[in-house]
Amino acid sequence: MSLQSWGMYPLVENEVIKFSSEKELQEKLDTADELVAYGNGRSYGDSALADTLVHTKPYDYFLDFDVTNGILEVQAGVLLSEILEGVVKHGWFLKITPGTKLITVGGAIASDIHGKNHHIEGCFSECVQEFTLMLADGKIVTVKKDEELFLATCGGMGLTGVILTAKLSLKKINSQFINQTTIKTRNLKETFAAFEEYKHLPYSVAWVDCLAKDENIGKSLLMVGEFADDGDLRYKPKSKLNIPFNFPSFALNTLSVKAFNWLYYWKSQDGVSKQRVHFDSFFYPLDSIRNWNRIYGKNGFTQYQFILPKESSFDGLERILDKISQSGKGSFLAVLKLYGKKNENYLSFPIEGYSLALDFKIEKGLFELLDELDAIVVECGGRIYLTKDVRVSKETFEQGYEKIETFRKFRKENNMSEKFNSLQSKRLGL
Ligand SMILES: Cc1cc2nc3c(=O)[nH]c(=O)nc-3n(C[C@H](O)[C@H](O)[C@H](O)COP(=O)(O)OP(=O)(O)OC[C@H]3O[C@@H](n4cnc5c(N)ncnc54)[C@H](O)[C@@H]3O)c2cc1C
Repeated sequence: MSLQSWGMYPLVENEVIKFSSEKELQEKLDTADELVAYGNGRSYGDSALADTLVHTKPYDYFLDFDVTNGILEVQAGVLLSEILEGVVKHGWFLKITPGTKLITVGGAIASDIHGKNHHIEGCFSECVQEFTLMLADGKIVTVKKDEELFLATCGGMGLTGVILTAKLSLKKINSQFINQTTIKTRNLKETFAAFEEYKHLPYSVAWVDCLAKDENIGKSLLMVGEFADDGDLRYKPKSKLNIPFNFPSFALNTLSVKAFNWLYYWKSQDGVSKQRVHFDSFFYPLDSIRNWNRIYGKNGFTQYQFILPKESSFDGLERILDKISQSGKGSFLAVLKLYGKKNENYLSFPIEGYSLALDFKIEKGLFELLDELDAIVVECGGRIYLTKDVRVSKETFEQGYEKIETFRKFRKENNMSEKFNSLQSKRLGL
């Protein structure tokens, strides 16, 4: 059976390679022409799609856990959720975690993912002490921080080789709960002011009403928080709801998004409110519904995520939100985050500034709208996130990533560009 991406667009057929030992993978790599690794398919676009995929999720043993110092060694197919099930009870947590725990360690490194604490802790590569990588000729190398292979592989979208194992450092916690503060804002100015006021806290994220107009553009619920300190570490993940089939595509339209946004914003208390919430609902609210991607219908959806430098963030976001609101193409999910300094990796997404992520169902006129938004992103000096992307043009992409030529040269010189390719790498000439 073919593997697909989370956005279920494009739907493609592929041959899936599985392996249970390094030797088996070496043999399969030797006979295959072109391929790319596939973790758990939580990337939205075409970065993990190709005619031939190496499915790494079944490669999922825990190798070592230094419980005193919080150092964990795992095979690359282990899910972040599986790590949490093993380590939280010992008072450890992931230093960096995205908005879903259902991704593999290999996928986290390849996208150099970030979480709600980028402004303080940076990207996933910060917690990667070293990893092993199978290169195009089947050789296995151990890659350490600051080496060129580290800079090219973290954020390199699987285009340098297959990550096999990783050694990660964890974060000490003393509770499974988060002390959360919610700030209700009426416009973008207030939202930015609130982000700045609470930026000393480790975690922050804002849900934005992207259909709000005029003086209400950018009205949001900003959620900030930090781990509680009550010693309660008895973690047991809850069971999940399931979306059993694709919704009809008319189910999601401007009206339903408007109604949802109104209710979500309205039910939250005015001003500032405080709550104690479980880390699962704070970090991973969407994971509680299995297959939620099916609500977008059989044509699938895409996530548009861009980041703008701090100095142009306010102006750029106001223009982009205005365009979206005028287009009437609403998104339930419109998530704004604050980012700290960028790292040295060649293709990691974050730069210091603000990023907005929006989900849109695939429909007529969408890509034209996103092209218009791209033009604003480029004008503001921003960039698009590869792990979410399925349609950006090569020109737009290149203008955002100043190290793209270094990455291309590195791939070419090390014979990686002949072996490791995805639909995305071909589209963008990565
Ligand atoms: C609900 C939701 C919320 C999300 N929130 C965030 C967020 O807050 N921050 C964020 O940064 N991302 C976020 N993401 C995106 C997600 O974290 C990334 O796309 C992640 O890379 C997916 O990991 P995966 O294991 O599913 O990999 P896949 O989607 O299968 O692959 C993603 C990329 O990693 C490569 N890859 C996978 N495994 C390996 C390996 N072993 N060796 C080499 N390359 C490999 C693939 O080739 C591909 O390029 C979110 C996604 C969802 C669905």
